[in-house]
Amino acid sequence: MSNVEERSEILDCAALGHHDPETVQVIEPKDVNLGGDDALRVRRTLPSLRRSFVGAWCFVDHYGPEQGVCMDVPPHPHTGLQTVSWLFEGEIEHRDSGGVHALVRPGEVNLMTSGHGIAHSEVSTPERDRLHGVQLWVVLPDASKDLVREFQHHVPDALDAAGVHAKVLIGSLDAASSPVHTQTPLLGAEIVLDAGVTWELAANPGFEHGVLVDTGVVDFDGVRLDNTVLGVRDAGLDHLRLTNPTGAPARIMLLGGEPFDEGVVMWWNFIGRSHDDIVRLRAEWNEAPDDRFGRVAGYRGPIQRLEAPPLPAGLKLKRRFRRGRQ
Ligand code: MN
Repeated sequence: MSNVEERSEILDCAALGHHDPETVQVIEPKDVNLGGDDALRVRRTLPSLRRSFVGAWCFVDHYGPEQGVCMDVPPHPHTGLQTVSWLFEGEIEHRDSGGVHALVRPGEVNLMTSGHGIAHSEVSTPERDRLHGVQLWVVLPDASKDLVREFQHHVPDALDAAGVHAKVLIGSLDAASSPVHTQTPLLGAEIVLDAGVTWELAANPGFEHGVLVDTGVVDFDGVRLDNTVLGVRDAGLDHLRLTNPTGAPARIMLLGGEPFDEGVVMWWNFIGRSHDDIVRLRAEWNEAPDDRFGRVAGYRGPIQRLEAPPLPAGLKLKRRFRRGRQ
């Protein structure tokens, strides 16, 4: 998916919120329209003004369920990150400049490493006209930011015990672990809690954790999270408590990872280390895209690639840190 929110980096963020590390930081989503009036709308909780990362998770878009919408994102670039696609419903056709052509399907995780530079397109297939899922980005640490392109695919088993149904996309949870490899320690899992269920789970104290509520209501360590919000707890906890207080199932995405303490500049679909990095990446994509990013074969839409928008005039893009911008 492409970030079309061109002006996100020029907001004044002087009024950053503070929160007590003993409590859950609740991040409300903002609505972002991916293209024209009939395009897919997403709810974005990361990055937010008050928090940039949960572990190395740096971008959380949540969409649907929607009927009769389509996603058609022409070839666009990425640098310095990995994309993680996870669907609850629907089907998306992925093509990238690493030569990968894959279908993204519910219950199957696809992790694409941009490394030094990649281009890809994403188009929902007409066979399934419902779309419901998340697109997540993982920031690559400085030592790994120029990795070669890679695409990993994994179908996790469903773990079912005492009203808890889990699928581990990335990392380990209880007895389950994913073979998907990452550059920093991470956790990503889909969890369904049956009506009325409370789950106490062992947590890695070195990880911070986020709970994105997809369906229903969940109490996260006693703090009520409604559908679509992200609740975050800082590192230092050896267990987490999740309760579904309602009479219907609740579904969440559980994200975790070691605190990511590097500063990065995120603009459009690029992650760099400085304003000048972004200026250079933008020019490379707009002027000679094949050289760094490669070519996406087989995309059949009317626009062969998304141009990077103009940079905000007269402003230096600022680095983001865990707790916002500096
Ligand atoms: Mn993308």
